[in-house]
Amino acid sequence: MTDAADPAIGAPAGKDERRRYILEETGFDEVPKKYRKFYRKWQGEGDDLAPNEVLCPVCKVVIRSSRELRPGDRVYCMPCMSRLIVIEGEAGRLEARVDY
Ligand SMILES: [Zn+2]
Repeated sequence: MTDAADPAIGAPAGKDERRRYILEETGFDEVPKKYRKFYRKWQGEGDDLAPNEVLCPVCKVVIRSSRELRPGDRVYCMPCMSRLIVIEGEAGRLEARVDY
């Protein structure tokens, strides 16, 4: 079962087991209520992102998926309506860039 509201909208083909996460609301209120648990405010440098989180480079909101994210995944940032692709950045951390 996939959650239709999950911002993760696509992944590379292949069978892979991913860790799943239970998301809780963190008080992010810039999107409709049913989507709130999928986003949180970024606390700035030193805010470590979990394996299911990636920072939107456009609006600096943390996008959270109910499963672990991997390079090549596509995610949608609802607050700024950007389509993003997950890439592996410096030090192996996940980053997102805008997918035009
Ligand atoms: Zn954004």
